[in-house]
Amino acid sequence: MDEQKRKCLYCGEPIYGRMDKKFCCDSCRNSYNYEKTHKQTNIVRNINAIFTHVYKTKTGSVYYIVYDQAYLPKEGSPDSFLLVKFDER
Ligand SMILES: [Zn+2]
Repeated sequence: MDEQKRKCLYCGEPIYGRMDKKFCCDSCRNSYNYEKTHKQTNIVRNINAIFTHVYKTKTGSVYYIVYDQAYLPKEGSPDSFLLVKFDER
């Protein structure tokens, strides 16, 4: 048994009980997961808001906009993109 070596990933308190436990209690597990998810979501959201957006045309084509450049996935060839200058007027 190496129970004393295991510590809660959130608060660092020793963990007792099942060997696969990573947290000392539900509250620590919830807080850890919330902060992890929240942080990642914020990074992605902020970068998207600053640098990129998605533009959908009336015909249903989706352009991925980065600054003033638009990437349009080529039909039937999902790994290829058409790069065009984007002008939303
Ligand atoms: Zn804890």
